[in-house]
Amino acid sequence: MANQNEEMMEKLVSLCKRRGFIFPSSEIYGGLTSIYDYGPLGTELKKNIKAFWWRWMVQKQANIVGLDSAILMSPRIWEASGHVESFTDPLVDCKKCKQRFRADLLESVAVCPNCGGELTQARQFNLMFKTFMGPVEDTSHVVYLRPETAQGIYVNYLNVLNSSRLKVPFGIAQIGKAFRNEITTENFIFRTREFEQMEMQFFVQPNSDQEWFEHWKANRIDYYYHLNIRPEKLRFHEHDKNELAHYAKAAYDIQYEFPFGWKELEGVHNRTDFDLRRHQEFSGKDLTYFDDATRERFIPYIIETSAGVDRTLLTVLVDAYEEQELEKDTRVVLHLAPSIAPIKAGIFPLVKKDGMPEIAEKIFNLLSPHYPVYMDVSGAVGRRYRRQDEIGTPYCITVDSETLENETVTIRDRDSMEQTRVKIESLRLFLLDKIEG
Ligand code: ATP
Repeated sequence: MANQNEEMMEKLVSLCKRRGFIFPSSEIYGGLTSIYDYGPLGTELKKNIKAFWWRWMVQKQANIVGLDSAILMSPRIWEASGHVESFTDPLVDCKKCKQRFRADLLESVAVCPNCGGELTQARQFNLMFKTFMGPVEDTSHVVYLRPETAQGIYVNYLNVLNSSRLKVPFGIAQIGKAFRNEITTENFIFRTREFEQMEMQFFVQPNSDQEWFEHWKANRIDYYYHLNIRPEKLRFHEHDKNELAHYAKAAYDIQYEFPFGWKELEGVHNRTDFDLRRHQEFSGKDLTYFDDATRERFIPYIIETSAGVDRTLLTVLVDAYEEQELEKDTRVVLHLAPSIAPIKAGIFPLVKKDGMPEIAEKIFNLLSPHYPVYMDVSGAVGRRYRRQDEIGTPYCITVDSETLENETVTIRDRDSMEQTRVKIESLRLFLLDKIEG
């Protein structure tokens, strides 16, 4: 089973490279450990995942708004947040083979999992990347690449409140890059040193935190069901006291069963008033909120939902990947939800004559302003279907001899492989219904 899982990951990594989803970064220079680039299809998929999240968390919510804060921020923010002091992982080295490990991820802290050698005592290692602002490289000019997007939201909480008509409870959402100098990197894009987060911070009355925590837990798992992730592959994991981050009162991970085990996909955290209280203390600015209805003044509690874009992308790929043994060959198919599939439809003229390529081009021009579609004119139609199955294209449209008579085409469904005939003029509505419905 372990071998089968490893083999499946290898096949997926190779598919990602071969079809242009994900490339190792700086590859022609030998690569840069645990940094990846997204190719043409990966870029579309990533964009669609972010759009899906934004629609769910911002557009469809009456009381959540968006933000796009800077990566570089005042270093005081990371002192207030506790990151300078506590954003650390325990690091151990093997005295024999010199490999480094995160002690909390090892089964035994006594021996090296690589060579059986003796391990050093664990020492705390801060995960923030440091750089300098301006030409002088001394300690007073240190700035950090943000390790999470959340702090950008907290320090803008008053700006958002004062420039909108929002009242507690309300949320601020943000998608953006985060950087962590991870000790160990693993499993393709699961843990990387540069990644993107999709975070939403929900500001609530102090005594309603438990209720909202339950609300967002339920909401977030429901979101993954709507992304077409198999429900049996998802579960909650509650953090015990030892696992809780320095800011959290309660935390649940939403975990997915990857080929390499159950792992965190998203965290839902009750951060209490820790962050705003600390920023109030460190900045000297009043960050309290006055509730008109109850005539109370308080520092709001914060419920956070924090998901990784890249980890979600890996999850949807792993979950969607299937090899089907058919009579003549093996069909590799990605059952991606139509809303996030990089290409929505393949368009094929059955043969390169009788005006079929021209009609296919007309269909391309009809659909491409609305959806990414792909025209493929070469090879047997079966081969063209396979090429689209492998990248998760949900529909393939074929122009054939009947098209010349009655302006209809076949639409073949990726999952059922069934074909139906529709009028060319109805194609746009057909796709709209399937993709957005
Ligand atoms: P872990 O215990 O795996 O290091 P964490 O508990 O530190 O993760 P959070 O700080 O809660 O993670 O981050 C929220 C989300 O951001 C994670 O659920 C994950 O999806 C994503 N994330 C965190 N670190 C990384 C990373 N190094 N690479 C890719 N995604 C990450």
